[in-house]
Amino acid sequence: MTARLLDGAKIRDQIFAELKDEVRLLTAAGVRPGLAAVLVGENPASQLYVKSKIAACKEIGLASALLTPPATVATLDLLAVVEDLNRDNDVDGILIQLPLPAQVGSKRILEAVDPAKAGDGFHPVNLGRLVSGRPGLVACTPAGCMEILHRNEIKLEGANAVVLGRSDIVGKPMALLLMHANATVTICHSKTRDLPEVVRRADIIIAAMGKAGFVEADWIKPGAAVIDVGTNRVTDAKEAARLFRNFPERLEKFRAKGSVLVGDVHPDAINTAGALTPVPGGVGPMTITMLMSNTVKAARLRRASPRISATHSTALAR
Ligand code: NAP
Repeated sequence: MTARLLDGAKIRDQIFAELKDEVRLLTAAGVRPGLAAVLVGENPASQLYVKSKIAACKEIGLASALLTPPATVATLDLLAVVEDLNRDNDVDGILIQLPLPAQVGSKRILEAVDPAKAGDGFHPVNLGRLVSGRPGLVACTPAGCMEILHRNEIKLEGANAVVLGRSDIVGKPMALLLMHANATVTICHSKTRDLPEVVRRADIIIAAMGKAGFVEADWIKPGAAVIDVGTNRVTDAKEAARLFRNFPERLEKFRAKGSVLVGDVHPDAINTAGALTPVPGGVGPMTITMLMSNTVKAARLRRASPRISATHSTALAR
C-alpha cells in the first residue's frame, strides 16, 4: 500500500482563499484585521520567519506592522511595547517572534499579551479556554493539523488517536483538539513504556517529538493516518543512509546538498500508512496559515457585529 499524501500547501491555498473573502467582508464593515509582529534583534532565521508572516498578511489583505526593538532591549521596555499593542484597537493579532534574547523574561512577555490577541495561541488563558471547550485562539500548529484531518475527511469520531509528544505548543493542545472531536486519545512522551505497541493500536498518529525518523514503518497499523509534525535537519551521512535506505533519489539529493529536512516518522512509513503528511510540505505550511486564521478570528471575536460573524460558516469559524 502506498499512502495518500496529505498536501499542506494545497490546504494553505484553500484557507487563504477563504480568509481573503472574510477579510474583504470585515473590511467592508469597517473592521480591517491587523497583525503586529515584534522581532527583537537581528537573528537571521527569525527575520526570515517574520518576513514570510508579513508577506502572508499582504497576500490575504490583512494590515500588518513590524516592530523591531534592539537585541539589547530590557524586559520592562518590551513589556511597554506589548502594552501599547494591547491598547491599540486596530491590532487584532500580536506575534512575539521567539526566541527572545537571554536577558528578556520570555514567559513574562508572552503572558503580558492580551489573550484575545495572542495570534500564536500560546497564552495560558487560551490553553485554558481550549481545555474547557470555550471559543478562543488555538495554538497554530495543532490547529493546522486538525484542518489537514478535517479537509481530508479523516474520520475522528471514535478513532484511536496517539499523540507522540506533550509540549504546551503542540502535543497538549493537539490531544485536546482530538478529544473534543470525539477521538479516544493516548498521549505519549519520553517515559512511555512499549511505545511501538501503543502506536500500533492507533488509527491516527500525530508525531511531534523532534526525533528524525523515530517512528518506524512497522509501528504503524496498515491504513492509519499519520500527521508528521517533526521538522529535523539531518546532516549526518549514516543517519541519512538509515532514513533513505529505500529512497536512492533522496539519498542522492542529501549527498549533493549535505543536509535534508525529515519528520519524526521514518520515510518507509509511506508503504504502511493509509495517509501521510510529507516533510516538507505537510504540516509546515499550516503554521503561518493558522496564524493568519487566528488573526482574522480575533478580529471577528473582538470587533465584528454578530451579523457579520454569522455570515461566516466555513471551517475557519471553528
Ligand atoms: P518539544 O517541546 O521538544 O517536545 C517534544 C516532546 O516529545 C516531549 O513531550 C518529549 O517527552 C517527547 N519525546 C521526546 N523523545 C521522545 C521519545 N523517545 N519517545 C516518546 N516521546 C518523546 O518539541 P515541540 O516544540 O513540541 O516540537 C516537536 C517537533 O515538532 C519538533 O521537531 C519541532 O521542530 C516540530 N514543530 C514543527 C512545526 C511545524 O510548523 N511543522 C511547529 C512546531 C513544532 P517529555 O515531555 O517526556 O520530554
